[in-house]
Amino acid sequence: MRAEIVSVGTEILLGEIQDTNARYLAQRLPALGIDLYFMHQAGDNLARLRDTIAAALARADLVLVTGGLGPTEDDITRAAIAAVFGEELSVDAGLERTLREFFASRNLRMPERNVKQAMLIPSATAIPNPRGTAPGWWVERDGKIVVAMPGPPAELSGMWERDVRPRLAERSEGTVIVSRTLKTVGIGEGVVDETVAPLLESRNPTIGVYAKGDGVHLRLTAKAASTAAAQGLIAPVEAEVRALFGTAVWGADDDTLAQAAGALLKEKGLTLAVMESCTGGLLASAITDVPGSSAYFRGGLVPYTAEAKQQYGVPAQVIAAHGVVSEATARAMAAAARAELDADVGVGVTGVAGPEPHDGAPVGTIEVAIETPEASGHGGFVFAQSREAIKRRAVTTALLLIRRAALGELRAKS
Ligand code: ATP
Ligand code: MG
Repeated sequence: MRAEIVSVGTEILLGEIQDTNARYLAQRLPALGIDLYFMHQAGDNLARLRDTIAAALARADLVLVTGGLGPTEDDITRAAIAAVFGEELSVDAGLERTLREFFASRNLRMPERNVKQAMLIPSATAIPNPRGTAPGWWVERDGKIVVAMPGPPAELSGMWERDVRPRLAERSEGTVIVSRTLKTVGIGEGVVDETVAPLLESRNPTIGVYAKGDGVHLRLTAKAASTAAAQGLIAPVEAEVRALFGTAVWGADDDTLAQAAGALLKEKGLTLAVMESCTGGLLASAITDVPGSSAYFRGGLVPYTAEAKQQYGVPAQVIAAHGVVSEATARAMAAAARAELDADVGVGVTGVAGPEPHDGAPVGTIEVAIETPEASGHGGFVFAQSREAIKRRAVTTALLLIRRAALGELRAKS
């Protein structure tokens, strides 16, 4: 089955919102064996949207439309689809009742223009919207399918999971494509590529190597008649990759570094405390994004000025001798975090997020240190990027060190 996606909304064309709905859908079509050929973005203009959908439908078997199903004047997706098929819109009594009940149950008066959301054309059936008022449309005619879903991402995903995906899965009979991403750290892209070279000859699964902010990712992609069969092709190759890279593989698919590091801390029964300056709490935030992090995370301190750092136990002499952005200060912060919050593992993060240099250190300087009862480690470099990127890189550096600490890979204290 060949598909195209049409995202509707002038907001998208103005660059005010990102078209994450198209991405959401695109990511989910390969597993259904549906080939995606084009993605379109159209504004809230009836003629242009009609032409866009008609052109997509001329090429594809399936057109997925998102947005423009609301009650307002500029919500024109229903009218555009009606025009494509040359069918009349009319109010569906059952849908209208459901809509009125929805408002009544919330003690709200239904604005009359909302009746628009109860409209159908003869070839369309409504798709229930568990998270909003606008039902979706499933339109089927002459062997072609148009599915219209609401713009708000939560409504789209709710409708997709509950109705659209299962219905498409029944229809599509083709090869499914399944991908598995293995995430590595500490090995350069070139070396990773070289190491997996013997496996690259395999056509199924194919292997792709990608450098990302949190290390080099390997993507294994298999084609087969079913998801289970594709997973069966991936499993032995994944085992080979894991054997080649050992603990350099820190996670898979949607795993985050904070999850991976946290899981190891928990497994080893270690507690963690952080003292961060240039990241302003971003490290603690990433750590606590993981549910259950209270099992190992004691807490974080964010002393931003040199004086505040001293108040939390960073010796004034260290700062005076080495500067507030230095390996020595980062190490003293790690030790102070451990002591202040009574944790096994302490992390100190200092740096210059910019745009001005600070205390003699250039923009992008990142100094991260870690200390455990037996060992310590450090990461320091200059990453001259935007303020936001510098902060994120500092967090990644810290999480990688936490992971190494939990794995016992740090150098023992002398
Ligand atoms: P509503 O009933 O809220 O009007 P709708 O189906 O008419 O829903 P739109 O009016 O097109 O949808 O968009 C409503 C909101 O949904 C947008 O303001 C935006 O926040 C989000 N949205 C719409 N399209 C997309 C998209 N392609 N990607 C991400 N978010 C989107
Ligand atoms: Mg709208």
